[in-house]
Amino acid sequence: MRVAEGGFDVPLKCSPEEYKHFAEPALQEAQKSNFPSALDIVENGLNAHPASEGLMFLKAYFGYKVADTMSSELTSFPKVIQPLGNGALMVDGAMTSQLFGKFQEIVKILSEAEESINELLQVNPSSQEVVAFKGYIDSKKNQLGRESENMKATISNSPNLAGSFCVGCRKSISYDTQKVVFQKSSASQLEAWHLPCFQSKAKN
Ligand SMILES: [Zn+2]
Repeated sequence: MRVAEGGFDVPLKCSPEEYKHFAEPALQEAQKSNFPSALDIVENGLNAHPASEGLMFLKAYFGYKVADTMSSELTSFPKVIQPLGNGALMVDGAMTSQLFGKFQEIVKILSEAEESINELLQVNPSSQEVVAFKGYIDSKKNQLGRESENMKATISNSPNLAGSFCVGCRKSISYDTQKVVFQKSSASQLEAWHLPCFQSKAKN
């Protein structure tokens, strides 16, 4: 029994019982691209058979597929930062927070997949396939981790860079829920505006 899809051709070490009750139904779900269900089935299997190497590998593999699917869905997410011309940038705070949450969720799933791979490596330290798969998960996790750190820094640094008040209405800005426009002032300081305040300024 091998998992060939996605280029990972790894022998699955499962007992006939583990295969029949967990691996096979999970692989059937995976064939329909139901990776979250496949992952559930395998996790149930690991509760009953915690030492099953085949189920450990499948947990990592399906976890990776769930994370991969979620991150490709993010490409259809509306852009959180949009240039408005003249050096002004609009940042959608609510969307940024939502996106940040998604990134965190994906990183968590990848961390669980990685834990499973680490357990598997302890029993198969010289398996090239397992080492290669771990590298794959690591690089994806690091990439997403960096992106989510940048996003978090954008939200938490904004008040330091541009203050907590709108230049237009002088009321406070909530960077993680509102749409905010950033623009360099003549003194080359960064100014922040609520989007509607910036738009009404532009009309005048
Ligand atoms: Zn305002």
